[in-house]
Order: sequence, then structure tokens, then C-alpha cells
Amino acid sequence: SNYSKEDVLALAKENDVKFIRMQFTDILGIVKNVAITVDQLEDALDNKIMFDGSSIDGFTRIQESDMYLRPDYNTFTIFPWRPKEGGSVARLICDVYTPEGKPFEGDPRNVLKKVLAEAEEMGFSMNVGPEPEFFLFKSDEDGSPTIIPHDEGGYFDLAPNDLGSDARRSIVLALEEMGFDVEASHHEVAPGQHEIDFKYKDALSTADNISTFKFVTKSIAHQHGIHATFMPKPIFGENGSGMHVHQSLYKDGENAFYDESDELGLSKTAYYYIGGLLKHAKAITAITNPSINSYKRLVPGYEAPVYIAWSSANRSALIRIPAARGNGTRLELRNPDPTANPYLAIAVMLKAGLDGIKNNIEPPKEVLSNIYDMTLAEKDEAEIESLPGSINEAIELLLDDEIIKGALGEHVLTHFVEAKQIEWDVYRTQVHQWELDQYLTKF
Ligand code: GLU
Ligand code: MG
Ligand code: MG
Repeated sequence: SNYSKEDVLALAKENDVKFIRMQFTDILGIVKNVAITVDQLEDALDNKIMFDGSSIDGFTRIQESDMYLRPDYNTFTIFPWRPKEGGSVARLICDVYTPEGKPFEGDPRNVLKKVLAEAEEMGFSMNVGPEPEFFLFKSDEDGSPTIIPHDEGGYFDLAPNDLGSDARRSIVLALEEMGFDVEASHHEVAPGQHEIDFKYKDALSTADNISTFKFVTKSIAHQHGIHATFMPKPIFGENGSGMHVHQSLYKDGENAFYDESDELGLSKTAYYYIGGLLKHAKAITAITNPSINSYKRLVPGYEAPVYIAWSSANRSALIRIPAARGNGTRLELRNPDPTANPYLAIAVMLKAGLDGIKNNIEPPKEVLSNIYDMTLAEKDEAEIESLPGSINEAIELLLDDEIIKGALGEHVLTHFVEAKQIEWDVYRTQVHQWELDQYLTKF
């Protein structure tokens, strides 16, 4: 959609909108909102709405706690699951501005916009298609989430084994009413695990869509009395939830990753982009896999990547090249998971790829065999390295990578790293059930 201010006002009127949620995302990817009434909508559209950012995670330095929300008109949409009679609820996704009228450095959407501007200077626009996975768990009598999967289904199973399909159906319908183009939805490998894929779009719209998708999914599941979680590895011994990210660059209206004269149908641009992604893979993992739990998914044996390699053929690699060519030419980065802040994740992936293009970074040879089956010696021989094993390690590697740090900017970097170091420290000093089981009676 391409709305003007008048369009938004008219839409609000037509749909009997009473409340508008002004949304933005904090550094950790949590969606925040301030609700206004329809009487304030015009002021809001004129960027006159101020809010106090002082208690938003990572948002403020003491002297600048007042922020302005500038709504992106194109993101106006009605929440279809809210009652329509007596006034419906709409939302607008906003950019955060300082009182001086400058884009706020700590706003993740601004971080993405900056890297997109850099791409644009090089003549590129970016398309992104995500594959978020999630679990549906039963709730107990009090309505609290359990870790009992809502069904015993498996990959691509149909009802009646797939009880989650009712909830999934409602989620898909709500998303479509909100303007999503849902391409596929299916049961995933683990019990209670699902995936909903929506159509690729420009990078900024997709980042907006991912954050919308997550709270729509949780809200609708809740209405069905079940709990949706995007936690990457909720059950030991089962597949975890990833969020593969398909990405491509366009130049002059054409797919810049495609070259029919190449053996694999890939352009120099595509190879350098892959080279850049692999070079910066360790640092970007801190952003694409930002939780403690993220690293319990990135282990061998569960279709999640562990090794830094690319392949046109197999799914054990970090980067896979799906078969489509022509305008559909793209690569799939397989380590991201849905706990990532989508704006920051897309920003650092793009930055890594652009660095590859700028510096003609050749990727290593593609790996055609299943990397999980290779011996250590074979991996050494092929110079295949591993992704970081913990968020702590990933943060160290991020701090070593000037290019990726530059993409995040000082403000986001500092607050992100600080939050993660605290998280790691709290985790590291806990005594876990596993330790009690191992040591309490043995020693
Ligand atoms: N759930 C797997 C993961 O953790 C991905 C399965 C798939 O290929 O869709 O990445
Ligand atoms: Mg999947
Ligand atoms: Mg995939």
C-alpha cells in the first residue's frame, strides 16, 4: 500500500476505528506501543505525538528521554481479531525521532534504513522472505503455558494429528486480512511445531511484517487457548525453531544475483554477497541468534546449521541456494531464529553482503557433501569453521568485527552488548536442573 495522510484518515473513518496503536521496536526486538484515540490521529500523522522513552530498553540517555513517533502511513492496518462493533483497533508502525527532529540512533528501524540507503547508493534494493517457525503448546487450567505440545503431528501432517491446524488457519486468515500474502503454512518436524511462510517483499516491509507476524500469532493462539512461542529450542531432543531468511538484491528492476552464463546461474554479485555473509557470519550470529537458548538449536542433528559453509545442493550448510533462477534467484541464510530483532538482523545480513560486493570477497568452494557426516580432519581440510557456541562467544566475535559494529552504530551496539552480557552472567551463575541430576548424588 502507498497511503497518503488523507487515505489513512479516510480508512480510519470507514472502519470505525476508535484506537490506534503507535508501534515501534526496542533494541531487543520487543514491540512497544502507545495507544491514541482517533481524535489524535491527525496530530499523530503530522508527527506531533511525543512519548517518554526513558523506560524503554536501551533507548535513552538521560538527557533525551522525550522522543517523537513518526508513523509510516503505509503500515496502517486494522487488527482483525479485535471487536469491530463500538470501534475497531488499528496500528501504525513508527520511526523514532529525537526532539531535534533527527532519526534516533537507537531505533532499530533507523539502523535498517541506513544500511538500505547504503545499498541504494550502490544501485541495489533488497528483497527478503522469512520462514519463521514456532511451537504451539497447551495451556494449563490457569491459562499458563506448559511445554506440552498441542499435537503429536510431524512434518507436513494433516488433521486430525495436526490439532494446531485450526489455530494456524485462524492465524493465516488474520494475516491475510492484514494484507499479508501467505505462501505456505505447514506442520513442522517436531510435535506442536509449525511454520508460516509469507511472500518476500522489500527488506523494510518484511522486517515490519516479521514483528507483526509474531504478535498476531501469539494473540490468535491465545484466543484458541493455546500458547505460541518463538523460543528457538523449547524441547531438548527435538528440532528447534529457526527463521530462515531468503534474500536477493535487485538492480535496475532485475535480479542482481542471476547470471545465466554462470555454471550455477549465479552472478558475481551473488558470489561476493555469499563471500561477505560467510566472512561476517560469526559476528552477525550475535544479532540473528541473540538469546541464550538460540545456541541450543545450533547443534548437529536437528536441521539447524552449525558450520560456516555454503551449498547449492544440501541443507546442512549455513547458506543454501534454492533451485529457482531468473527473478527468483536468491540465497537462504539458515542460522537466524525468530528471537532476532528483524530490523537489526536484516541490517547486518545486508551489510555483510554489501561488504562482500564492495571488496570482491570470493566465497570458498561450495560444500556438496553433508557436513554433519564429515570427519574433523575433512572439515579442517575444507577449512570449514563453526558458528559461535554461545551468545557470550558471539558477542566477543561481534566486538571484533568493525564492519558489523559500524552497521549497528554506537548506540545500538553498546546497549545490545550490555544487555546480552548481563543475560549471560545471570544464566551462567544459575544452578540448572541438569547439574543437580548429574552431581547431587554422585558427589
Ligand atoms: N527447524 C529447522 C531449524 O531449526 C529447520 C527445518 C527446515 O528446514 O525447515 O532450522
Ligand atoms: Mg521449516
Ligand atoms: Mg527453509
